[in-house]
Amino acid sequence: MLRMGFWTEAVLHVVLPRACVHCRQDLAFGDDGPLCPACAAGLPPAPDPGCVRCGAALGVRRDFCGACTGRLFSCRLIRAACAHRGPAAALVHAFKFRGLPDAARAAGRALAEDLARRPEMGGADALAPVPLHPRRARERGYNQAELIAREVAASSGLPMLDALERRRGGGPSWRLGRADRRAELSGAFVVRPGADVRGLRLLVIDDVCATATTLEECAKALRAAGAADVRGGAFARAGRFIS
Ligand SMILES: [Zn+2]
Ligand SMILES: [Zn+2]
Repeated sequence: MLRMGFWTEAVLHVVLPRACVHCRQDLAFGDDGPLCPACAAGLPPAPDPGCVRCGAALGVRRDFCGACTGRLFSCRLIRAACAHRGPAAALVHAFKFRGLPDAARAAGRALAEDLARRPEMGGADALAPVPLHPRRARERGYNQAELIAREVAASSGLPMLDALERRRGGGPSWRLGRADRRAELSGAFVVRPGADVRGLRLLVIDDVCATATTLEECAKALRAAGAADVRGGAFARAGRFIS
């Protein structure tokens, strides 16, 4: 992370106090933010009970959600670090709509910790962040999934592969329903020419998983290019009960 000098930071703290992006309390001098320590410690856990495959919230404890029952997927397993509400939603809002890349880095550290705790997410060869459409990446100045993946790479030691490219689906497709979203994203991701993913066990990294369509489309492209196994890790799990 880019660190300012101590005095620069001290002066900025006095003239321009920073507030937690969730509870709005002023951050103490020296706090990295953008969440205060209490909000950072209070990220809501991922849905429980959740679907064994995709992690979607279930109303009652059973193995699979309605969407996963009786179907096979290219993305074998999806896990999220937390549920998309409270301080987790504030963090997402900060990197998606307020242009705060530090929020994505904080989300990445939370995802890294969560993935390290899950035995079912071990044994990967490399990380592949979900790409943004180039136009969106230019507008925002960064790809939040890539910033998140960088933190996971730093703490896990796994290499990052710039394996995917987004051809379509630059719009805010999270506004669409599941069927429209699938149509919008179908074929939107391709493996970058020259990227060799053959035989690799990959973890695709995204910021928010709502319908899991994005992760599945990325996984389809990677499997078609020869990846041996694809799982998905997202910072936050959104979506209503699907049971
Ligand atoms: Zn706070
Ligand atoms: Zn499911």
